[in-house]
Amino acid sequence: MQQVRVRFAPSPTGPLHIGGVRTALYNYLFARKNNGTFILRIEDTDQTRFVDGAEEYIMESLKWCGITVDEGINEGGKYGPYRQSDKKDIFRQYADLLIDKNDAYYAFDSRDQLDKLRKDADKEGKTFIYNASARNSRQNSLSLPEAEWKQRLKDGAPYVIRYRMPLNEDIHFDDLIRGHIVVNTSTLDDKVLFKSDGMPTYHLANIVDDHLMEISHVIRGEEWLPSLPLHIMLYRSFGWDAPLFAHLPLLLKPDGEGKLSKRDGDKMGFPVFPLYWPYGETAKGYREEGYYPEAFINMLALLGWNPGTEKEIFSMSELIDAFSIDRVHKSGSRFNPEKAKWFNHQYLMQRTNKQLAIEFREFLRIQGFHHDIGQIETLVGLVKDRVSFVSEIWNETDFFFKSPETYDKDAIKKRWKPETPAQLLELKEVLAGIEDFKPDAMESKVKSWIEAKGYNTGAIMNAFRIVIVGASRGPHMFDIISWLGKEETLKRIDKGVSVIGKSL
Ligand code: GLU
Repeated sequence: MQQVRVRFAPSPTGPLHIGGVRTALYNYLFARKNNGTFILRIEDTDQTRFVDGAEEYIMESLKWCGITVDEGINEGGKYGPYRQSDKKDIFRQYADLLIDKNDAYYAFDSRDQLDKLRKDADKEGKTFIYNASARNSRQNSLSLPEAEWKQRLKDGAPYVIRYRMPLNEDIHFDDLIRGHIVVNTSTLDDKVLFKSDGMPTYHLANIVDDHLMEISHVIRGEEWLPSLPLHIMLYRSFGWDAPLFAHLPLLLKPDGEGKLSKRDGDKMGFPVFPLYWPYGETAKGYREEGYYPEAFINMLALLGWNPGTEKEIFSMSELIDAFSIDRVHKSGSRFNPEKAKWFNHQYLMQRTNKQLAIEFREFLRIQGFHHDIGQIETLVGLVKDRVSFVSEIWNETDFFFKSPETYDKDAIKKRWKPETPAQLLELKEVLAGIEDFKPDAMESKVKSWIEAKGYNTGAIMNAFRIVIVGASRGPHMFDIISWLGKEETLKRIDKGVSVIGKSL
């Protein structure tokens, strides 16, 4: 196979959608798997859609995901510039080349004229197409006398350069995912290649750059498939070999009805961007929501590709080993927010208690709790199987750090019996007599006491939980009190019995 060179070519028009991150990821996996080169190219020739901060956002997102760029604006490389607006003159030369070959022409129609034609066609239920059948009645270098259009150019009249799409010709091409495709040119228009603002359009810049950068495979979103016939024609006009193409399936809404959008995320409470977007209309990001980049990447990789086995947890290097384009799906992949959390939970469970303690300590510090890391380690070990995010550890452990201020009314109604206060005070004496405040030792002593007294274990333990935790939740009781220590445990029994007693 020829040297693999692939590119991720986003336009800096706002935050990078997770569908875009997936495109970058598949390109990256393909490059690494084939000892190829992964290029980041910024396609910013549409000045009207340019958004400040977007370019940096793209780079930071890839970095957070662990997708390393081989050639790009920051990395350099032999095929630069890697930002298209930095080479508009080069694109202009290629547009001129097509004019010389008579495969492109100057068009002078104003925006108002074209808008009117579109509206008139709409009224008749038709679509206006600027193509072979329409171009002769328009203002361009194919329809006007040569002297006239040359004069217009000399006078500095605004113009665009359009591709001269042949009439009624079948274009055949292949897509690595979609297979063989045939499109007849009569459905295609004479697309603008170069605009009156001196910038190339996406189509021209994209083809020229892919050629100049010696791109071997174009792996991109399915929304670009309709542009492919034009791209194939452009390659033909230039006399260049086209790269191979793979158009990735769409990322769909959770209900499968249409493309996943920011609004779906806002409505259902999940991010559709990798990082928080801080400009204008701000948006949530996976990073800030507490996702591990490894979990995010693992989830994305499986949205549109499968390894052919049941295995779901993949590190980046395992993804590189397993990835192949022929296992990319043809149909769209539904985004599943619950599955995203599930992936994060899996990665959280893989972390050592020490790592989690270090991450969780930061939350505690912000709330003013400064506990020894060893203590926090024990704590996270008790609750990690119940959480998907480090931030959720707090909801599971708040009562470790503060004695209950209120006691759950429903729990009291259900669990608090007239004999409970006396039993809990007895339990307090039993615990007071235990030297080694370790879960197992305590458990066996308390159980023998309950047995000797003929009490009901459930009744005692449930009431005990209410005074210690404030509600019917939390991990194993003896793990909790061992962590709290004797003094705090006994205090909580006294306080609970007294406060609940007064409330009844
Ligand atoms: N600039 C295009 C985008 O924003 C790139 C399409 C392509 O990869 O050819 O998605």
